[in-house]
Amino acid sequence: MKAKPEARLELTEAEMRDYGYKVIDSIIAHHLNQEDKKPVSLATRKEMDSLLGEDIPEHATAVDSVLETVMEKVMPYTNLLSHPKFFSFVPGPSNYVSAIADTLATGFNVFSGGWVASPAAAELEILTINWLLNLYGFPQKKGGGIFTSGGSMANLTALVTARNIKCGDDYSKAVIYLSDQAHSSNIKAIRIIGFRKDQIRIIPTDGEFKFSLNKLKNAINKDRLAGLVPFCLLASAGTTNTGTVDQLQDLGAIAKSENLWFHVDGAYGGAVILAKNGKQLLKGIEKADSLTVDPHKWFYQPYEMGCLLVRNHKWLSGTFTEKPEYLKDIEGNSSEINFYDHGIQLTRRFRALKFYMSVKTFGLKAFREAVQYNFDLCEEVERILRKSPKWEVVSPATLAIINFRYNPIDQNLSEQELDKLNSRISEKVVSSREAMLVTTILNKQTVLRMCLINPRTTLAHVLETIELCEKMAE
Ligand SMILES: *Cc1c(COP(=O)(O)O)cnc(C)c1O
Repeated sequence: MKAKPEARLELTEAEMRDYGYKVIDSIIAHHLNQEDKKPVSLATRKEMDSLLGEDIPEHATAVDSVLETVMEKVMPYTNLLSHPKFFSFVPGPSNYVSAIADTLATGFNVFSGGWVASPAAAELEILTINWLLNLYGFPQKKGGGIFTSGGSMANLTALVTARNIKCGDDYSKAVIYLSDQAHSSNIKAIRIIGFRKDQIRIIPTDGEFKFSLNKLKNAINKDRLAGLVPFCLLASAGTTNTGTVDQLQDLGAIAKSENLWFHVDGAYGGAVILAKNGKQLLKGIEKADSLTVDPHKWFYQPYEMGCLLVRNHKWLSGTFTEKPEYLKDIEGNSSEINFYDHGIQLTRRFRALKFYMSVKTFGLKAFREAVQYNFDLCEEVERILRKSPKWEVVSPATLAIINFRYNPIDQNLSEQELDKLNSRISEKVVSSREAMLVTTILNKQTVLRMCLINPRTTLAHVLETIELCEKMAE
């Protein structure tokens, strides 16, 4: 028996080749000409519905025509997070080698769940996780980790592990501590795994957006006196708002003396380990029990790729191993890791491949230089803004993030007027679609936030955007 050609979901060899080349050509054209496009795309649900809405198609459509539809009606309506003038949230600079590696992994549909399913996929994940363990000064043999879809899933995986190792099955009195600048994915994860709101302590930050150590110590003591069980301290290595790194050494010491799990969320700032003074900036990170890094941000990988590292790989297998009968035959020995036993997913895409291929192709040195360039560019932008009578730096260049606001010295605007003015500047810049630059709130002030982690962003791109802001302000 043999399925009809169309039921095999196949194209002819010539069609496949032609289709593939067309896709590759458009990816390359996008990489080459991205700068000439607008980074911002704006469309309402109504507009998109009228462009794309249709019932599920029962019958075939010509292969070229579907691709054309996508190139005309889908791709143009996405924001370009790798555009050199995309400054908001966390840009996704990505790189071509990794994009092609992802295509390869998908093309072969590699199953990256268990050793027996794909020994080389597991081996590359072990190898690249070891590279990362080494970069962060984590124990090489004992340490472990796993690639996830992103930072949110890495934080979730970390917190499930922390809860299991520290509390076991009874976590009714367990309390977790994080700062008011910690990323929202952490609160989300804490809620997903079933903690009540009253088990979460959000500790205010000091004037520099770092954990207030005094308030943290007070909170821990108060909870112990109330008969609760502090179990986890969550620090940030680069907050998303300001790039601030918490006092990792002090927090690590508190975690140790209080017997708390020490999780560091380095989804934004972890990659700064590659900068010249990265080890200094992240000092204390090597003491974390678990560390989230997010290669699809500042390690220049395409979506999706997050990573969780732990000091002891047995913590992961001890937390996530379940043994259904149909997986018994493929268990293997303990050095042959089944990543489905180290995290949440069973079926997993082959994420390690893009990291492996891009680092081997460009060399780590190129990544170091890119991160350092991002750093230096941000500091240069700070110097320029400080010299201008129109701009006020609200939070200085920190891990390639700078927050500033339009506040001309000769105009004596009130706080309220400044908030309104800076919101308007951002709205007008975004609706011009020339640059993506949105506001955040710091110390109750509305400020413009620029995240400069794209190595293809030049000083000219930034200066053009600042000029555009000034034009909008007037
Ligand atoms: C982006 C970010 C996350 C979430 O990561 P995703 O990859 O978006 O899921 C978590 N923590 C911090 C500090 C981040 O910047």
